[in-house]
Amino acid sequence: MKKISFYQRVAIGLLSFFSVINISVAEQKHATEASAQPIAIAIHGGAGTIEKAKFTPERENAYRAKLKQAVETGYSVLDNGGSSIDAVTAAINILENSPFFNAGKGAVYTFDETHEMDASIMFGKNRQAGAVSGVKRIENPINLARLVMDESVHVMLSGQGAEQFAQSQGLALVDNKIFDTEHRYKSLLNAKEKMKKAKQNNKDYRAAHDALNVEYKVGTVGAVALDAQGNIAAGTSTGGMTNKRFGRIGDAPVIGAGTFADNRSCAVSATGHGEYFIRYNVAADICARVQYQNKSIAQAGKEVIDEVLMPVGGTGGVIIIDTQGNISMPFNTKGMYRAKKTSTTPTYVGIFANE
Ligand code: ASP
Repeated sequence: MKKISFYQRVAIGLLSFFSVINISVAEQKHATEASAQPIAIAIHGGAGTIEKAKFTPERENAYRAKLKQAVETGYSVLDNGGSSIDAVTAAINILENSPFFNAGKGAVYTFDETHEMDASIMFGKNRQAGAVSGVKRIENPINLARLVMDESVHVMLSGQGAEQFAQSQGLALVDNKIFDTEHRYKSLLNAKEKMKKAKQNNKDYRAAHDALNVEYKVGTVGAVALDAQGNIAAGTSTGGMTNKRFGRIGDAPVIGAGTFADNRSCAVSATGHGEYFIRYNVAADICARVQYQNKSIAQAGKEVIDEVLMPVGGTGGVIIIDTQGNISMPFNTKGMYRAKKTSTTPTYVGIFANE
């Protein structure tokens, strides 16, 4: 037998030492990946005519920072073992408290120069849901929607009744003026002027109204999340449409239209021209395609946003999550404020198309 030298023996020893270490590191990584339940969250801050040219670099950075803060706040709830419902609520609270978005502070104005807000939340484990519509004195409407889900025997409460229920649950009522912002007031005046002109010039009133909607209502907020227990949830909160009248209610508080969650398919929060999202039952339709047609959330979302809504003039977008932690965020407008973070991917923040 050929004798091996001392150096060869050292080399063989070192090689086998490192390969053992390598294998055990790889095995460990595989074991944790296989056993770890993914957690994930996505948020949106509204879709519409959001174009780069309309932003100064400072303004763009401020929006990005707020979206980042909201998604990371929600993620840390999940990371600490919190439920998807808690994560969705925490992320939405950050956005409701920011004047940048059309929810809570920064909500758009009604024709009568007040703010009327809608919100809803849904849990995918048991399809429990809560919603409020047309509330004027609730600082964080998503919190009241959550109380409706947890503490009432109903799904949707509206207006004064919802506010009475809030008080019975210990929520303080606030002055409607706390939601005032100068930029939204200007939008109301512009919107009124445009509608007046459309009427004077005998233009198609409905078309003028549709155009207005894309331009002036941007900023509805929403979140979808998957927690370490494997449960998904969705929530949406909005001030609705600028210049709305007669107690108009949009899709945000309508379960199946603006918000939907079911562990067997997906969780969705929508933003866009609410009337279309209600008529086309957007959130529930996406999840039905996932559940009954075995489509991926990306495929189902794209079909509904591009092939169902787009041809009829329905503008907007959605964020979608499934129980594997996949996320999809399709929209058919120029931009959508959005962000996501999962246990396997870092924080992503987007505003415009193709980024
Ligand atoms: N969907 C909301 C509504 O129609 C508005 C929006 O998402 O921007 O009330």
